[in-house]
Amino acid sequence: MRKNTIGISIIIAAILILSGCETVNVTESTSKTDATAVTTETDNPGERKIVDIDGLPVSVMAGEEIFIRVQILDANNHTQWHETGFEFNSESDDLTFESNVIRLPENSLTDDIYHVKIVFEDMEEEFILSVANLLSQTIDEKGVITNPSTYDAVINKARSLPSDYVPDDLVTVEVPTCLPNPEIRQMRRIASEALSEMFEDALQDDVELVARSGYRSHATQTSLYNGYVSKYGQEYADKYSARPGTSEHQTGLAMDITAQSVNLQLDDNFGKTKEGQWLAQNAYRFGFIIRYPEGMENVTGYFYEPWHVRYLGVNLATNVYNSGLTLEEYFLSLENN
Ligand SMILES: [Zn+2]
Repeated sequence: MRKNTIGISIIIAAILILSGCETVNVTESTSKTDATAVTTETDNPGERKIVDIDGLPVSVMAGEEIFIRVQILDANNHTQWHETGFEFNSESDDLTFESNVIRLPENSLTDDIYHVKIVFEDMEEEFILSVANLLSQTIDEKGVITNPSTYDAVINKARSLPSDYVPDDLVTVEVPTCLPNPEIRQMRRIASEALSEMFEDALQDDVELVARSGYRSHATQTSLYNGYVSKYGQEYADKYSARPGTSEHQTGLAMDITAQSVNLQLDDNFGKTKEGQWLAQNAYRFGFIIRYPEGMENVTGYFYEPWHVRYLGVNLATNVYNSGLTLEEYFLSLENN
């Protein structure tokens, strides 16, 4: 029996040398079935296929590098893992491929999806990379987030921005505003453009929105918060204001919106007005969510703020809106997948 095995191995090795095949592990095969199958490999090329792709996580994160291996079933019913010899294709120009490594762009957003095709000789297989910038992976031990500039960064009382973070693409919004302070008339470019679209769309429905307060620097938030503390005490300040570094307004992705019907104030009653209802029902179409829904202060850390919208991009905002969850709950649900 042993002699037979050696003989078969020699046959296989000879076939491999003659055919110029670079496959390595086939010589390990010892059964007679394997040897027979190898001789018929070229007769039935259709039997070869990709049976498994190793290294594909349930979800991936922005900037992540993924190392891929493929398992090939050859015609002798023998499987083997390969780390080379294949290539990737994707319709997305954002992904970069190097040998068996796929690298995600730094600006990938949660719920972005990439379709990738892997090609090995005459075989191919498609798979999907689904992005989830998990809360647990985007925070350091001091509670400071590590992805301050991504549009899906989650900031709250337990997740602060670096104190020196300033968005590098702030612009002055081009919608009606009611406060003169030039700083708070700013948002990040993409959010400002989405805000313009939203305000114009609202006008089509005879809804006149007014922007009140957008970007706030760390210094502005510090003086605002300290003002609340000295006037009303710390407990009140923590309920209605944000400690410096924990305000979404510092991201340049948030805007407080009001209307003449509430005298351009930030008021709970805004949620009952035509303007507030339009905003709640339509903001997601432009990439915004009402960040602090009613009755969710235990989760978000803030009481109802029908006026405060946060830009997340249309895809993620739509998913959060349809889920009926707060932003915190939505991200936690990804964590548990
Ligand atoms: Zn606000």
